[in-house]
Amino acid sequence: MDKLIRVTAGEGQIRGFFVQNAEMLEQARTIHQLSPVAAAALGRSMAASAMMAQMLKGKGQKITLRINGGGPLGTILCVANIEGHVKGLVDHPQVETENLTPEKLNVGAAVGKEGEITIIKDLSMKAPYIGKYPLTNGEIAEDLTAYFLHSEQQPSSVGLSVKIDVDYTIITSGGFMIQVLPEISEEQLRLLEARLMGLPPLSQLYENLKTPEAVMEVVLEGLEPKIVEEKEVVFNCDCSRERMEEALISLGHKELKVMIEEDGEAEITCHFCNKAYQFNESQLRKLIEEL
Ligand SMILES: [Zn+2]
Repeated sequence: MDKLIRVTAGEGQIRGFFVQNAEMLEQARTIHQLSPVAAAALGRSMAASAMMAQMLKGKGQKITLRINGGGPLGTILCVANIEGHVKGLVDHPQVETENLTPEKLNVGAAVGKEGEITIIKDLSMKAPYIGKYPLTNGEIAEDLTAYFLHSEQQPSSVGLSVKIDVDYTIITSGGFMIQVLPEISEEQLRLLEARLMGLPPLSQLYENLKTPEAVMEVVLEGLEPKIVEEKEVVFNCDCSRERMEEALISLGHKELKVMIEEDGEAEITCHFCNKAYQFNESQLRKLIEEL
């Protein structure tokens, strides 16, 4: 089971999230036939979106994370909500890049760094909140750290990591997001910085310790971390037949008629989960009537 925890530490002046999302990434890998480097990029992005969604205030709100760095992977798109539902895709799932070291996938080369990170917060109001910031290095964690600092004026530390087996299955995927509040004492801030600087690779922590709680104990050691909330996070797509009908209707009268004449039916596949929706001739005709 994939799990996310919300924590506080440092006398309430440090807050953060830890997430373990290997199962949702394995599901995404199977759906999209992801190459290792594509899986690493999407796993990091899904972990980040799962955590960012927990900063939302209410049900029905959602966050979209879009990363486009001009690299061969194309765009990474993730959508998550406060209930722990996450979906994600990449434009080119079969991309391969040369590893940085035999062990280390080159996510930055796949993503590219000539582009931007966009965060869309749908707060169930008229206009969504949209924040953007240029990419730093395409490794995603550093890009998000810069985004939070410059676009939301929130000093943060973001760690994201995915480890993949030789048969491409996901060994581990996880991350953390830690933010400090202005009232933090200098002593606590120094202690936090020293902890973050001295950490072993995050993939190693998640591989050895398995749970977000155990990783939290290591990352925030000496800062008296407390778990405020914990929840399951899952790969969950919210596509539906109604939405696909809306998509068909939006094509317009003429296009629908062409579909009926040429194929006598239509099939629409959801890009996030690959679920296919079929519409026969009479169903298509009904949609035209609704226009
Ligand atoms: Zn779907």
